[in-house]
Amino acid sequence: MKGKKIEPQIDWNEIDTVLLDMDGTLLDKHFDDYFWEEHVPEVYAKENKLNFFDAHDKLMEKYKSREGTLQWTDLDYWSGQLGLDIVHMKEKMNHLIQVHPYVLDFLKWCRKQGKKIVLVTNAHSKTLAIKMAKTEIESYFDTIVCSEEIGIAKEEPVFWERLEERLGLARDKCMLADDNEGVLQSAEEYGLRNLIFVAKSSSTKPVQFSGKYPSIIFFKELMNE
Ligand SMILES: [Mg+2]
Repeated sequence: MKGKKIEPQIDWNEIDTVLLDMDGTLLDKHFDDYFWEEHVPEVYAKENKLNFFDAHDKLMEKYKSREGTLQWTDLDYWSGQLGLDIVHMKEKMNHLIQVHPYVLDFLKWCRKQGKKIVLVTNAHSKTLAIKMAKTEIESYFDTIVCSEEIGIAKEEPVFWERLEERLGLARDKCMLADDNEGVLQSAEEYGLRNLIFVAKSSSTKPVQFSGKYPSIIFFKELMNE
């Protein structure tokens, strides 16, 4: 474990809307890490007659150049860039898509408390469709918003302004949970106060607490009744 944990202190009486990220927050990021860092380089290497390590380095550089933008999550963009059918490849790997422990309990608990539940993701609509089909958590959300609909990634504070306009949010009545500190920071700049960092985004990676935001390992830590 790295760093000291800041304990979350959510006053649920103050919260009417729960904003939740998908990958790494509700779903195990192992799927995404494995897919992009192992499976895609393997197939890319084979197609382009490279060894795995050269293909891996080349792809990591390409990914890095698009981080924090909508292209990073755009499956059609990567299909074009890499000459691979990324959507089909993801569908074939869907057995690795898993919901994190206690997520279903938390979603049910929020429902029972009468909270509005919104999935807010940078994931591409085609990724979202594959993941919702596999996990069957779709029915828990009042609204699902993909960044591509908003036109900008969650890392930009203006994203949250546009989300507020679209959903009629009251920013002091929202809680946001995300496994990306950059996203929490952009939400903070916009004016969200109840921010939760998910410190265990992948079942195969160690817990890493945020030095700046309250952290949880599992969502059971937020249920107080
Ligand atoms: Mg995430």
